[in-house]
Parts: sequence; structure tokens; C-alpha cells
Amino acid sequence: MPCPGCGRDYDVTLFEFGRTLWCTCGSRVGMEPRERHLAGPGPCFIADAMLGRLARWLRLLGFDCAWERDIPDEALVRRAVLEGRVVLSRDRALAEEWRVSDLHLVGSEKVREQLVEVLERFGLAPHVALLSRCSECNVRLVPAAPEDVLRVPPRVLERHAVFSTCPACRRVYWEGTHSERIRRFVAELLARRTGA
Ligand SMILES: [Zn+2]
Ligand SMILES: [Zn+2]
Repeated sequence: MPCPGCGRDYDVTLFEFGRTLWCTCGSRVGMEPRERHLAGPGPCFIADAMLGRLARWLRLLGFDCAWERDIPDEALVRRAVLEGRVVLSRDRALAEEWRVSDLHLVGSEKVREQLVEVLERFGLAPHVALLSRCSECNVRLVPAAPEDVLRVPPRVLERHAVFSTCPACRRVYWEGTHSERIRRFVAELLARRTGA
């Protein structure tokens, strides 16, 4: 793998997972990212350490978004490549250092605007599925078992019939005021999108 500036030869294994490095001549050396077409109903994501709240919001809307506290860039990129995830990052240095074919640099600092940005960039609004994924574990919810429902406060049990649970943390979800707020927010997003 020759440096584009001076021709010095580098071992290709140095550039695994899209890593790049500076040659002593001042050129950036690295391989071009492979073009990859995202399969399935929508992309899944991995958010960098700064985007934990965005990751939670994406999950609330049903989207698969991995997030690990304090994950080093290398581990983040490796997981993205191995699991076919789009990297969501606020870190320009990461985007420079790693040539990842699927990386979106998030512009805004505010979580709502970040969410709008990602929904629009990837055309996700029509695929929103509330109460389908645990916001903490990023795992798909399943219908709640009777023993899970028993842990729900009685006043909630009186008003709601449908409960879901996270197979990982056993948290119980239902169509409460919380999801009403999110529903309104999504409705606003969809309205914006159609220019209504
Ligand atoms: Zn060079
Ligand atoms: Zn969970």
C-alpha cells in the first residue's frame, strides 16, 4: 500500500477497519472505504460516546442504535464494520482518522435537532415504531408475561391493556403519557417533512 505523496510502502494490515495514518511526508495514507449497500428495512447505528441521549431517542422510536459508554474510537469503528452499523458521531477527528463508508457527522448539539437530522438524513420517519425497543438495552421488546405485568402500578393496570417487556432488563413498557409526548413529537416531524 503506497503513500499517495511519496510512494513509501506500508503494510496493508495497518489500515484494517479503515484506519488511516500520517506519512512522514505529510500525506494521509489509508484505503478507500468499500462501498456497501445497506440491507434490510433501515440502517442500524452505533453512536459515539457523546451521543448517548440521541441513541436513547432513536431506540424509543424503534431504531437499532448501539451505544457504549467511553468506547474507544477503534472499538467503535470495529463494531460498526463487523455489525454493519452506520457510525453517528460528533467527532470530526474520528471521521478524519478512520475511513468508514457509513459515517454521519451529527451537526447539532441539541438532542431534538440531532434526532431530526438523523431521521431526515436516513428517511426514517415512516419507519418509526414506538414501544418496539428498549431505550436502555437496545433490545426488541416482546409481549409482557403475566408476572411482568404484576410489577406495573395498579393505576396503570386499570387504564392500559397492552404491555411489552424487555427480555434483557425486564423493564415493562405501556402506552402511557410518556409515549403520547413522543407521538406528538413524531407527528410534528412527519408534518415538517411533508411541508404541511
Ligand atoms: Zn509519504
Ligand atoms: Zn432493557
